[in-house]
Amino acid sequence: MRVLFLALSLIFTSCNAQNNSGPVNAQLTSRTQIIFADSILAAKIISTEDTYLKAVSAYDRSAIMQLATPVTQEVFIRHLKRNVLNWPENEIKKFSAFAKKIGPRLDALNINLPKEIILIKTTAGDIGGADAPYTRQNAIMFSRPTLDKTPDSIMANILVHEIAHVYSRHNKDKRTELYNIFGFRPSYTIKLPKEWDDRRISNPDAPLLNTIMDVQKEGKSITVTPLIYARNPVYDPSKGGGVFQSFTFQLMQVEEKEGKWQAVFMDGNPVLLSPSPKTLPDFWRQIGKNTNYIINPEEIMASNFQLLVNKKSGLPNPEIIEKMEKIISEK
Ligand SMILES: [Zn+2]
Repeated sequence: MRVLFLALSLIFTSCNAQNNSGPVNAQLTSRTQIIFADSILAAKIISTEDTYLKAVSAYDRSAIMQLATPVTQEVFIRHLKRNVLNWPENEIKKFSAFAKKIGPRLDALNINLPKEIILIKTTAGDIGGADAPYTRQNAIMFSRPTLDKTPDSIMANILVHEIAHVYSRHNKDKRTELYNIFGFRPSYTIKLPKEWDDRRISNPDAPLLNTIMDVQKEGKSITVTPLIYARNPVYDPSKGGGVFQSFTFQLMQVEEKEGKWQAVFMDGNPVLLSPSPKTLPDFWRQIGKNTNYIINPEEIMASNFQLLVNKKSGLPNPEIIEKMEKIISEK
């Protein structure tokens, strides 16, 4: 077993095109390049104390490291740094071809992207073994399991979706306008008491509780914020799944007190509402029905951005795409 493992790891190393010889580029749009980070650049980006790293909760750290015990921020960052890889040549070629295909569509929108979008390959240890691409800063993270099992046609779409997150982070005013389409508006970051803050799950694409919306419930207007959290506050390493092990999405009711939005608590727990179309039809009236990926306005926006870039027809709410195009297009 040991010998076989060694042989396999040698093959893997020899396939490694970059070998820390520096990042490789591909043109995306006329103004934006894709940079394939080598593991040195990747480790630097993934360990940068950005909004996500400042927001991670106790549960995030334990679930990502697949431990039932608490993990310090220092150990967590070291773990992230250890789980980045170099890009092999075949994957660089594949993503360069995606860039060639997608680039002209983004150029046609005249979209304001950063000069560089960095692609990082990870082992999946950075997300507790799960298969879930995500973004931080101007970088997009793809894990080995995602790269190994995703067909090319789907992968090109995932790349478009992730570019939407990089765009939104790079254009904060436009982000607010885009969120407005779906009924959301910005708020100061809503703080939770420790017991609930510890079980919060941070989506790196939108790590803060800082968007709210008014929604009609049984004839009454209430204000809510999307919350993702762990149903079981202690991670069970025997079950796996990383942050998705007991991932729960609900709308948390908030109220304004002394100029600040705060969670409404009842009997020691926040008031949580199911986002189902049956119980909360007004939520769906506002976010539209083009996508089912609705865990926060950032994901609703990115999913609709995919439809915009792909010029998808026959949508339930085509007006959303038209409004998005008007906001994004710098013509
Ligand atoms: Zn996303």
